[in-house]
This record gives sequence, structure tokens and C-alpha cells, in this order.
Amino acid sequence: MSSIITYCSHCYVKNRMNLSRPPQEARCGRCHHPLIDLTPVVATDANFEALIASDIPVVIDFWASWCGPCLQFAPTFNAVATELEPRFRFAKLDTEKESNLAARFAIRSIPSLLVFQRGQVIAQRSGALPASLFRQWLETLPRAS
Ligand SMILES: [Zn+2]
Repeated sequence: MSSIITYCSHCYVKNRMNLSRPPQEARCGRCHHPLIDLTPVVATDANFEALIASDIPVVIDFWASWCGPCLQFAPTFNAVATELEPRFRFAKLDTEKESNLAARFAIRSIPSLLVFQRGQVIAQRSGALPASLFRQWLETLPRAS
């Protein structure tokens, strides 16, 4: 039986997901909600380590409310998240509220997209991009299994 580790969209606890069953049927061992929601979660200092530990690549949008391009990009990010979960997981990180995390990854321009897998940054780019290019870029990244 093959399984992978990813976080619960509701309580952010790490879960083992059995790959032989449809991912939409997976439930969290702790809170019993569906493990995978199709909308991005909010990354915070409290849940960050659990999010990035995922075997499934996690795409994090580093943004801020004062940043026009970030706000313009938000609907694209949400739409692609709905389309590509759980092939990828998606989260948003407010760089004003989570300035420690923004500093840790030396975020200088936003929006910045960082993709994490098993605790490591595996890809990074900055600037808003259209959905087609966003998808294309993600397709170049490794799969979870
Ligand atoms: Zn849960």
C-alpha cells in the first residue's frame, strides 16, 4: 500500500493519505473533515511547518493587501488551486501578518510563489502570471509519488 503525507485543510495536522483511494474521499484522522479542500488554506507561523512538510508539492502565494498585482492575481491563484488540488496543495501567506516567514525566505517582491515539498523550496518565482503560464510552470515540477 502506498501512502503519502499531507496536511488537513481544516486543522492542518499532518495525515497519511492512501493513494489507492480517491483523494476526495480521504478524511482527517483528527478532525474527520475531508482532508483536501479545493480552496487555498491560510499559512501562518503556527501551521507553516506542517504545511511545507507535505509530500505533495505545496504552492504558497506570498502576498499583501496593499499590493495591487497580488489582489489581481488572487482569483487566478484560487481558480488554479481548485483545478489542481490535490495534484498540488495551495496556501496563501500574508507577508504583513507573517513578516517573520517573509523574512526567512527573503521575499523582496510580491506576489512571490514558492513551492515547497518535504520542507524544502523546490521552485520559486515572483510576479503575477496568467492562469495558463501558472499551470505550465507547475506542470514542470515533480509529482508526489
Ligand atoms: Zn483535520
